Amino acid sequence: MLSKHQMNTFNPQNVAFTHGVGAWLYTTDGRKILDGLAGIAVNGLGHAHPKLVQAIASQAGKIIHASNLVNIPEQAALADRICELAKMDNVFFGNSGSEANECAIKIARLYGHQRGISNPQIIVMERAWHGRTLATLAASGSRKAQAGFEPLVTGFIRVPYNDIAAIRAIAEHSTDVVAVLTEVLQGEGGVYEARADYLRELRRLCTDKQWFMMIDEVQSGVGRTGKWFAHQWAGIVPDVMPLAKGLGSGLPIGACLAHGVAANVFKPGNHGTTFGAGPLVSVAARTTLEVMTDENLLENAAKMGALIKTEFAHALKGAEGVKEIRGMGLMLGIELDRPCAEVVKIALDHGVFINCTHENVLRMLPPLIINEAEARELVARVSDAIKIFLAAPLPTGQQSTQQAAA
Ligand SMILES: *Cc1c(COP(=O)(O)O)cnc(C)c1O
Repeated sequence: MLSKHQMNTFNPQNVAFTHGVGAWLYTTDGRKILDGLAGIAVNGLGHAHPKLVQAIASQAGKIIHASNLVNIPEQAALADRICELAKMDNVFFGNSGSEANECAIKIARLYGHQRGISNPQIIVMERAWHGRTLATLAASGSRKAQAGFEPLVTGFIRVPYNDIAAIRAIAEHSTDVVAVLTEVLQGEGGVYEARADYLRELRRLCTDKQWFMMIDEVQSGVGRTGKWFAHQWAGIVPDVMPLAKGLGSGLPIGACLAHGVAANVFKPGNHGTTFGAGPLVSVAARTTLEVMTDENLLENAAKMGALIKTEFAHALKGAEGVKEIRGMGLMLGIELDRPCAEVVKIALDHGVFINCTHENVLRMLPPLIINEAEARELVARVSDAIKIFLAAPLPTGQQSTQQAAA
């Protein structure tokens, strides 16, 4: 329960964890819960990974924070490694996904001004999620999250997801566009994938038009889909890529990577941060990447993700009310024909923690270290919860989306 001294912004489940081990969480009332959410795609290494714990403890005993007024060798090492993995040229570190996207938006706008475009516009997607700061809220496609915070930051043009014609139409008449910002796999928006051919066409169009292709991989990046970054499935390289969630294994870090022209837009004084990637956080992120390589977690994410998807298809075959099972790697969604918040509670009672996003999509983001037995357990427990939920009559006044459409 929240204290009366905590602002009323979240509506948490009535559960608290004392600790975790691997893919398992232990509650204050002595229960053991399978972690199907990894702190919203953050705890990729699971809980209490010995190498991570050791690296953090050791660094905390040396120096935690130094400020970006001095060299931070730990940050430099992280920058080298993340750029190598992403085939990008350089990176700016902040503290969250929103900040990583703010950085991307600023790079695009400054690029516009450098080219004499005084009113630069960024094309964004329906159902997009880029954060809750004022600019990223305006870039996001959620009217619910935006409501009440007007005037919204301007400079964004919204188009449907996966619709290259809509972007071409804008390209024909607008001379103010400087960038396209998109997710490869929309997370908060309901786990929707971009088609690979769409991403490749968009890449070509951006290059032709000298627009930056900015791919928000805050949720889908750092191994989540079975590649280091989800756009790599389409064989493209973005100009700008915001990252966060899984990068620091729970220590707050955001990163905005840039390639080519985009990597040379900022000059000293254009952007900054007090906390961004201090020694402790940088060591946590560097260790996260190291463990992911050592333990073949990309391969595991791809394998376990495919297994979970197949097993769900079996377990939920013919279940009326289940509309679609989708996602890549360990970023998975099950769309129901009705609001699914109640399933999360039932699932928790059945010993598994998941989440409901976009009203009617159950989302699963298990830790990348999940093993086969745990993956099967996840499917069994979540399927049970869904079936129990769907067997119960809908509360009066509430109708399924199928009924609503009829
Ligand atoms: C979570 C998320 C963000 C926002 O990250 P915060 O750390 O909550 O600010 C931005 N983009 C995507 C794709 C996300 O999933």
